[in-house]
Amino acid sequence: MLQVLPFLRPYRKPIIIAVLLMLVELTVELWHPLLMAKIINEGINQQNLSVVLRWGTLMLVLALLGFICGIINSFYAAYVSQNFGFDIRKSLFEKVQSFSFANFNQFPTSTLITRVTSDVTQMQNVVFMSLRIMMRAPLLIIGGMVMALAVNVKLALILVVLIPFLLWFLVRMMNRAFMLFRSVQERLDHVNGILRENLLGIRLIKAFVRYCHESNRFTGANKELMDRTVTALRLVEFIIPLLLLIMNVSVLFILWFGSLEVNTKSGNVGEVVAVINYATRITGALSVVSMIVMQFSRAKASAQRISDVFEAKADISDTGCANADLRITAGKVKLENVSFQYPGISLPALQSISFTVYAGETVAILGATGSGKSTLFQLIPRLYDVSGGSICIDGTDIRAMKLDVLRKQIGFVPQEALLFTGTVKDNILWGKEEASMEEIIEAAQCAQMHETIMKLPHQYDTMLGQKGVNLSGGQKQRLSIARALIRKPKILLLDDSTSALDAKTEAKFLASLNAYSCTTMIITQKISTAMQADTIILLQDGKLLAQGNHESLLHYSLLYQQIVQSQFGRESVPHA
Ligand code: ADP
Ligand code: MG
Repeated sequence: MLQVLPFLRPYRKPIIIAVLLMLVELTVELWHPLLMAKIINEGINQQNLSVVLRWGTLMLVLALLGFICGIINSFYAAYVSQNFGFDIRKSLFEKVQSFSFANFNQFPTSTLITRVTSDVTQMQNVVFMSLRIMMRAPLLIIGGMVMALAVNVKLALILVVLIPFLLWFLVRMMNRAFMLFRSVQERLDHVNGILRENLLGIRLIKAFVRYCHESNRFTGANKELMDRTVTALRLVEFIIPLLLLIMNVSVLFILWFGSLEVNTKSGNVGEVVAVINYATRITGALSVVSMIVMQFSRAKASAQRISDVFEAKADISDTGCANADLRITAGKVKLENVSFQYPGISLPALQSISFTVYAGETVAILGATGSGKSTLFQLIPRLYDVSGGSICIDGTDIRAMKLDVLRKQIGFVPQEALLFTGTVKDNILWGKEEASMEEIIEAAQCAQMHETIMKLPHQYDTMLGQKGVNLSGGQKQRLSIARALIRKPKILLLDDSTSALDAKTEAKFLASLNAYSCTTMIITQKISTAMQADTIILLQDGKLLAQGNHESLLHYSLLYQQIVQSQFGRESVPHA
């Protein structure tokens, strides 16, 4: 809970105003029974109408004052809690942006979504309640006891003995509710996770007719969420009636003792009424407290989940010695003895890989699926850091460069073309916000996408659905290539990004890449593509098996020969 409190700091003033208004409301409430006692004792019992009118008017004025203070307090409570939630969501979003892939392994997408939305809402609710009623209820209980003692010590003693016990009981319940609500939020993560997977894979689910299976999976998670919530709420629901029962019994006691006191003239009716009035107000406050207990334990669970995200260490960041002036000038990439292991996985994904790509050259990376090609690419823009060895660009270790400087000069086209909701133009501009229309067209032309775009209903202003659903695989690939090219990157990484292009289009694209003076690394399955590269790197099980140009590999690499033969047949092995 404490870790999220600093988010309240900017709202100190409205919080103080809200608390002051709440205190006025509370004072008015605590005065009412006293005024009532006065009206009964001095007015009604003495049959003095002017006393009744005088104190009655005061009571009305005070009630009105309390009412107005309550409304203004609500206004400030809403203002503070909404801004507080807004700020936390903003900070969480920024924190998540700084996450490395290892952090995402720790926090899967669905839990991050729940944490940024539902958990923050829980916190918001608790802030609102705190400012509106949370403090008022405990203060009303204490204030009520003090006032009751002031009115009649003997009668009030019943309350003084009983209430601390009830509060102790509530705190114990709160701890249990905390555990239960934490598991409720975890179940919510699960429901979100399944929902998310389903929405992303809806085409596949329809094509495989897996609706029933998925529906059962969702129902299962949904039911678990309901069961946990019901268990948690049941605990809380049991608290309120129990409290009411105990308090009502104590009111009966007060009445009984009170009637004895009135009979023996050691007390009066006004006092008894006032103490009973305090007791009922305290009862009301206690049931509010138990509601608060529920909300608080829920918020405590949520606060912890939010803090976990804030406390996660983004393990890839600028190193202490990062030099802000370092830029990629030529684009020579040198890997020296690079090895890499995914966090938490014992088998290395890459082992002692060494090769050099000279500035402006093109290198093709070939290898079976799972051989570590994509892993190798992720190391260059430092999406992961190497576990051993080093990667140097233009002679500088990439860890000595500023992370965003490094990444801004690399054009990265991932294996899965991911587009964003928006127009075609927006998606290309995503690579370089300030680019002109000429630059956009130039990038699209190089990616062999311009003509396709011109045939779309609104050309560059055509809206793309979520993840570009209204484009074909090859179109998505070309659009994500254009997005990378618009940056005029010094180093271009294409992760199997031309797999869905036909041979002719691909050849045209590779030829037009020559206009860009960038070092290009292409992961490919196609020999026809690899042949056009200056160097071919052959990976197998995370190790570098062979490197050289087409001719030399054909000469001495058995695996390369096999791949070539599988694609071209034994007879027609092509020569570059
Ligand atoms: P390729 O791109 O050559 O098909 P990858 O580089 O994607 O292969 O994967 C290389 C190996 O690393 C595979 O054995 C794969 O299971 C493993 N791997 C890939 N991504 C992850 C990840 N995020 N966490 C753990 N292991 C991974
Ligand atoms: Mg891959």
